[in-house]
Parts: sequence; C-alpha cells; structure tokens
Amino acid sequence: MAISIKINKTQQSRIDQCDFENIEFGKIFSDHMFKVDFMDGKWQNPQILPYGPILMAPSISALHYGQAIFEGMKAFKNPQGDALLFRPMDNIVRLNESALRMGMPEIPEELFMEGLSTLVSLEKDWIPTKEGSALYLRPFMFATDDFVGVRPSNNYSFIIFCCPVNSYYPKPIKVLVEEKFVRASDGMAGFAKAAGNYGISMLPTMEAKKKGYDQIIWTDGRTHEHVEESGTTNLFFIINDDTVWTPSLDGNILRGVTRDSCIKLLKQRGLKIEERRISVSEVIEAAKSGAMTDCFGTGTAAIIAKIAGIGYKGVDYMLPDSENRVISNWIYKTMYGIQTGNHQDDFNWVVNLK
Ligand SMILES: *Cc1c(COP(=O)(O)O)cnc(C)c1O
Repeated sequence: MAISIKINKTQQSRIDQCDFENIEFGKIFSDHMFKVDFMDGKWQNPQILPYGPILMAPSISALHYGQAIFEGMKAFKNPQGDALLFRPMDNIVRLNESALRMGMPEIPEELFMEGLSTLVSLEKDWIPTKEGSALYLRPFMFATDDFVGVRPSNNYSFIIFCCPVNSYYPKPIKVLVEEKFVRASDGMAGFAKAAGNYGISMLPTMEAKKKGYDQIIWTDGRTHEHVEESGTTNLFFIINDDTVWTPSLDGNILRGVTRDSCIKLLKQRGLKIEERRISVSEVIEAAKSGAMTDCFGTGTAAIIAKIAGIGYKGVDYMLPDSENRVISNWIYKTMYGIQTGNHQDDFNWVVNLK
C-alpha cells in the first residue's frame, strides 16, 4: 500500500537561529513534524506540517485518564552526509506493545516508517554533525476524544517531532536504591513507555535529589530486594571487567534498544552475560568488595550514564573512577561509531535513508 503524505512546508525555516555548537537538550525543535490521526477506526490524513502548537479541547481524554505513550530514538549523519536511523523497527514494535497495554490502536509499521523517514529526510539539515550529537526523535500517541468518562478513546493522534541535541556526557551520577516507592509491579505497565509511568517517578526522584542523589534505582514492588532499572535507563553491573549482570525483562522494566545493543556488543567482545534477577545485596556486596569494576545505565539519550556510587540504607558505596571504566568507555565509542557510520555495523542495525 503506497502511503501518500501531504507535505505543508514552513514559510520560514528557523535553522539559522539554531546554534548547533551549544544546544540545550530537548529545548530546540526542528521546522517540521509528522502527524497522523486515528478516526472512524483507521489512521488517516498523514501529513507533515510546521512544528508548532496543536489545538485541543480541554476535555481530551489523554489529559485526564492518561492514554498517552511515547518513544525516543535518534537520527545521525554518516561521513558521506546520509541520514541514518538506528534500529527503528525496535521502536515501532515497542510503541505497539505500549499501545496494546494501554488499550490504544497499533500503528502500522509501514505508516510509522514512512512518516519517520519522510520527516527525517526533510529535516536532514537539522541533524548535527559535531562529535556526540544527533537529531533526537520523539514519536508519541495520545487519546483525543472530546469526552469525560473512563473508557478507551475512539480518536487518537500520532506525532513525531525532532530535537537536535549535542553530546550528553553527564558526569557520573550517584544513585539511591529506592525502598519505599515503586515504579512498576507485576501486572502493571512497566514495560510500556506510557506517560503515567514517568509522572509517578517525579516525587520519588525529587526526594532522592534532596538527599544528594541524582537518580533512583528502582526495586521490585513486592520485596524491594531486587534491582530493576534507574531513571529512564536500564542497568548494567560489570564484575571484574569480564562478567555482566543486567536485570532480565520481567515485565516491569523497559525493554531498552540500547540495553539490547549493549548486551550484543558485550557478548561479541567475549564478556559473560548474566541476564537474570539481581538482588540488591549482591550488587552492594560487589560494590563493597571492589569486584564491581564498572556500572552504568543505558538509554538512547546518553547511550551510557556512568554510575559513580550507589546509596543504600544510609551508606554510599563508591565505584572506580570514571577514566578507568574500560567497558563503559568502549561501549559508548563503539555504539556511537556504529550509529554514525564510523564503525562496522556487524548486526545490521543502521538504516540509511539515502
Ligand atoms: C526509554 C527508557 C529506557 C531506555 O530505552 P532505550 O530504548 O535504550 O532508549 C529505559 N528505561 C526506561 C524506564 C525508559 O523509559
């Protein structure tokens, strides 16, 4: 089925106002966005239009009952100047898993891919090329019924907009093992990138910040004895630089594309991967004894967020200095190299939009 996207270009590009050397993450938006609407049981009217405010009724159900899901992905430029996407199919599949869980309609893969590639091709000049930068892409879907009542909406909008972003080398962060609040528990929607999962994380994170931490390590909702993930990143613990612990996908954690890419690269490098339930006590024990040589979170925004230390029951367990993190430094370089076409793509992750 050929998809025809109506294109309404902006009269006046804003690209000259963008200082590509200094971009604040998530604050600069490119000229255009892609939008398609779900009405009368089908997706219709796919279009590209200037990025800007959208008109909505105060009663739209997404704002009241939370049928709202999103994705996060990036586009890059290779040395030849082609626009590249990284594993976009994984984001489409995950968006549809989130949609299903939230009682929302799935979006056909070819419609998502056609909208995405048309938009990114049109916004190619917005893809920054400075080391570490990328065009961050935010696909999202939300319920638009003009109706007050708790039931699945009949109407939805799906939009993709773009933010040029510079490298996001956060300083290594201190994380706190959370023992009171819960992000997700069995039967809930932890695996979905559903807006409400992030809303409920704000207060616990604010409280951790007041205590001097940058982020939380979420633990399981029943016992708080097993680690799940940290903020919006999946967790990796490196033991003696040869063994990797990462929590298995138990339905409560997000199936990160970066997580999966990391596992595959670390396996290829010859490390032993242990994807399983990981207890807080073994993490603390390994940090205390010095066996934990590296520890980081993975996600699209930063690729790797190094963890400097872990707080648990009033004690901070500090980890090796940032420069000595052999594995996390290697992962970052390799992954960004693949994404930008500078490193061999053994797993066929990159889609060239040429
Ligand atoms: C998005 C997200 C991640 C990381 O997923 P990527 O696909 O690697 O960007 C991890 N945890 C949570 C809770 C997330 O929302």
